[in-house]
This record gives sequence, C-alpha cells and structure tokens, in this order.
Amino acid sequence: MSEIRHECGCVYTEVEIDVDRPFMCYTDWETFVRRCPEHQEEFERKERQENERREQERLKREEAIEAYLQTVRDTAHTEFVPMQYAIDRFRHSMKNVNSKSWIQDYLRRTFNDVLMFQQKRHRCRVYCCKSKVDAIDFKHFWNLQNTQYRTTRG
Ligand SMILES: [Zn+2]
Repeated sequence: MSEIRHECGCVYTEVEIDVDRPFMCYTDWETFVRRCPEHQEEFERKERQENERREQERLKREEAIEAYLQTVRDTAHTEFVPMQYAIDRFRHSMKNVNSKSWIQDYLRRTFNDVLMFQQKRHRCRVYCCKSKVDAIDFKHFWNLQNTQYRTTRG
C-alpha cells in the first residue's frame, strides 16, 4: 500500500490486489481517492455532467429507434408470411448464429407493434407482414440499438 498526499488535501491510496483466477494470477493495483472539499466538488460536478450527457445520448438513441420503427409502421401492408421468413432474413443480414427461439424472442420484443404478428386460430404458426419485414435493415437497426458512445472523462 502506498499513499500520496497532495497539498490541497487529496489523498491517493494505492492498494495491491492479488488476482487469482484460473489461468490468471497476477498482482494489480487499485487506487482509492479521498478528495479535499474543492476537488470533491469538482468531481461531483463532472459526474453530473457525465450523467446528463449519457441521458442526452440515451434520448437521442431512443428517438432514432422510434423514427426508424415509424418508417416500418408507415410501410404499406401487403401479405402475411410465416414468422420464419423474418427469422431467416434476420439471420442472413446479421450473419447471426443464435438459436431460432432467441431470434424469435428478439423480434417479438423489438418489433411487436410493427410487424403485425398474428397467430391464426387453430394453428400454432405465427405470421407477420412481409413488406414490413422487407423494410427493416436489421443490421442498421441493431447498430442503432447498440451504439456505444465513447465516454469523455477527466
Ligand atoms: Zn484536492
């Protein structure tokens, strides 16, 4: 353990940590900071700014997703096809190897009010709207959902 005291009153303590996991065994350091009032205030102000920025980005992302879904909603309905059609298209455009039920869940969850899912009476197959499936660029949509904004810190 080593301690660095700054003139302002901030204390940085470095603590040795033994990482002992299968195939991994090394010594790491973790820094704990006890800040002086002035730097604590600055730290909290930066945290608030960072949270606000993240919130703004979350809103922007949700707006982009909603706008995209709206273009699919606005696509005219043509015919119903078995849901397998959407699963195949998703798999193909995403080069996705997840299980059928995973993709099915994702599609139901994500495009529930968009793809007009229907379960015909007395049949277990689920149907959806072909033209709306065709209107979706799954890869683009996935990227909209999962954009990682870089964090600017310090
Ligand atoms: Zn300080």
